[in-house]
Amino acid sequence: MTVAFYTLGCKVNQQETNSMRLLFERAGYKTVPFEEKADVYVVNTCTVTHVSDKKSRQHISRAHANNPEAIIAVVGCYAQNKPEEVGQMPGVSLVIGTQHREQIVELVEQAMSQNVVEDIQKAKTFEALPVALNVERTRVQVKIQDGCDRYCAYCIIPYVRGPVRSCPLSDVQKTLAHLSEQNVGELVLTGIHLMSYGKDLPGNQTLAGVIKAAAGLPGIGRVRLGSLEPALVDDSFVETLKEIPSNKLCEQFHLSLQSGSACVLKRMGRRYTTVQYKEAVERLRGAFPNCAITTDVIAGFPGETLEEHNECKAFLKEIGFARIHVFPYSRREGTCAAEMKGQLSKQIKQLRAKELILLGADMEAQFLRAQIGTNHLLLVEERGEGMCEGYTGNYCRVRAQYKGENVELLPVRIVGVEGETLIGECIGQNKI
Ligand code: SF4
Repeated sequence: MTVAFYTLGCKVNQQETNSMRLLFERAGYKTVPFEEKADVYVVNTCTVTHVSDKKSRQHISRAHANNPEAIIAVVGCYAQNKPEEVGQMPGVSLVIGTQHREQIVELVEQAMSQNVVEDIQKAKTFEALPVALNVERTRVQVKIQDGCDRYCAYCIIPYVRGPVRSCPLSDVQKTLAHLSEQNVGELVLTGIHLMSYGKDLPGNQTLAGVIKAAAGLPGIGRVRLGSLEPALVDDSFVETLKEIPSNKLCEQFHLSLQSGSACVLKRMGRRYTTVQYKEAVERLRGAFPNCAITTDVIAGFPGETLEEHNECKAFLKEIGFARIHVFPYSRREGTCAAEMKGQLSKQIKQLRAKELILLGADMEAQFLRAQIGTNHLLLVEERGEGMCEGYTGNYCRVRAQYKGENVELLPVRIVGVEGETLIGECIGQNKI
């Protein structure tokens, strides 16, 4: 039997798809590319914006077109949010949502048409899915937390991912020890609201504890963190990061800002002000001077005035980000913001998004230029004729001439920029 996968959305979805692929392969299935004819299709959906819903539906239809006889299983957030709607789509045999993925093989084998979506708000424990390692062992994502209880006004995620559930630290440590034996280049810690890790667990089980445990293992080259909550990047958290041996922690911190206007932040229900956000950034830059601060920004939140939009732009410039992901506001039914007055037109949202994207491109180019003359460890992901490419700890893509033996982490000095890629020269390990 063959199975094919298509994943939309975040790192957590990507990791969950890798886990489901592992479950099918353990059951004897052969994974084939999504475009090919397969006996089973698994579409792991996202519902963060209406565009994600549309793309999810498009790929469900594509699976049906690829093989009208196939079993199509739709999992993830869109399926959790609209199970009936998904279940009525042609060819859909199974709707799973954001739970019970560990039983997906059994469910697929029982499926003639089934809907196993349950009330996610009743979910109590973390669903442990196997961690899939890619053959290159370069980068592995480990999801340690699920759910979110922040209820930001625009966000549908708490309604589809449910309450905070964390993987017990002892189970996380077992997974980390197993991965360390495999010699992994980079481990990415992910979660729906990563910094809520341990909130639901007894005793002192914290994200800081997980980071230290991972960075302390010899077989894990370095640790990268998923999205962080600005309000929780306090002195003690940064002190913990500073204790991690250099080069074992990736100096890229993704702090979702969402808006640079203090009033809009308040209406969004975000739990920090622009002043507090800036303080969090300064704490990180104080500890890691050449770190990359990356972020997400929503353009055109309901009621956003031109003045607030300009305030947002000014704040983005003041911080100077390495990369900005911009999203035009997407009205999500069931969220507070969906009922707010002052919904802006599509044109205005797209116009403001375009301005922020251009601003972000300038900042990214500045950040890349500022890397010239600095030394980094490059995680080698591709090798060609005397060349290799990959990412630095502060998440810059680098190309370098290299003819030596296979290495995971290559010391390089940045000597130039070509578009969005840095040019590196190999240097001795002692120079890092
Ligand atoms: S913190 Fe806010 S934006 Fe992030 S997942 Fe939770 S509700 Fe959504």
